Amino acid sequence: MLEPFAAMCPRCGRPYASPPNHLCGHCISHPPPFGRARACTTYSRSTPEAPLARALHALKYGRDISYAKPLAQIMVGRSPADRTYDTIVPVPLHVDRLRWRGFNQAALLARPLARHWRLRLEYRALRRTRTTPPQVGLGEAARRRNIADAFEIPPDWSGRGKRILLVDDVYTTGATLEECSRLLLDSGASQVRLGPRPGPMKRHESPIVRMPDRRRHWERRYADAARRPGAPSPFLQELLPSLPPGSALDIASGDGRHSLTLANAGYTVTAIDLSLAGLSSLIRTARERKLPINAVQADLESYPLPTNRFDVAVKVFYLQRDLFGPMKASLRQGGVAVVETFLIDQREIGHPRSPNFLLERGELGTIFADFEILRAEEGLFQSGREKAFLSRLAARKP
Ligand SMILES: [Zn+2]
Repeated sequence: MLEPFAAMCPRCGRPYASPPNHLCGHCISHPPPFGRARACTTYSRSTPEAPLARALHALKYGRDISYAKPLAQIMVGRSPADRTYDTIVPVPLHVDRLRWRGFNQAALLARPLARHWRLRLEYRALRRTRTTPPQVGLGEAARRRNIADAFEIPPDWSGRGKRILLVDDVYTTGATLEECSRLLLDSGASQVRLGPRPGPMKRHESPIVRMPDRRRHWERRYADAARRPGAPSPFLQELLPSLPPGSALDIASGDGRHSLTLANAGYTVTAIDLSLAGLSSLIRTARERKLPINAVQADLESYPLPTNRFDVAVKVFYLQRDLFGPMKASLRQGGVAVVETFLIDQREIGHPRSPNFLLERGELGTIFADFEILRAEEGLFQSGREKAFLSRLAARKP
């Protein structure tokens, strides 16, 4: 793996001013559980304006995911091919912090490394059991207390025999990474090493991508920077004046045609999608137009939606049947769900053809039977320039 500094501790990678290389005092007195740790660069409080530190700060605290890709590319660029690992594990975030930030920067950084080395990326090897107060300003002993019992290995995961590369965004005292390493080794891993990170400050997680092919399709589709979001659904536009004001959830937002429509109408919007490219485009547009949109990059097949949070929840042209329950739960009392997607008849005239992406007649009405149905229509509608068989529904949570 990379040897970024002219002189450093061969175990934990702490840089020295000059050779010779020797174990540092910490590694001699408290040998860490991991085999080796390396960082891409160093960063200190005296150089907060260093470009990498600023980029990382913008990613973590500014929640600007457009920085994720260039930072990850730096990590890949500084990491020679290394085939001595079987799997890559990003340090997880607690689900509360994941919801706040919308993504796990460690996972965003680990993904390109996994792709580069053709290694498995395992998001669920470690779980964060509680949020920990920020480590900034804490001494080493306090950091260890802070982090104790904050992680666990899920019962259905085993590290037996695996050589693991653990990735985090920041390495400070190493308390978090040592704790994670210990757990992974206890679960049977034969070796844990800490991957290159683009620089210090702290650490953290997210349930991103499990199905690379599905995701790649959308990344390609949204990758064209000149592409502008399409026109919003006429059904949603028609409904807008009658919807309760407040906060809105846009499920599978893509590049955000509905998020933008909702934000324009005064909503504070949370947009969730799998595609980083789609969300980057949405963030750009939202920033240009100064619209309050919080973009969350997550796999909806595993991401837990917040509950009792939104006044409006929108799911348009995205059918994942097990998401209707969480969608209903995400609404406050009196909140309205807006759903629109293809009806089974659509397969007679075009795509999609798979019943997985087509609603049966009357299906939405059954799903929302415990809601007050405000509008429900099924049939052939004009959709953009084409006609399509659609099922549409607006329903209020009692
Ligand atoms: Zn050391």
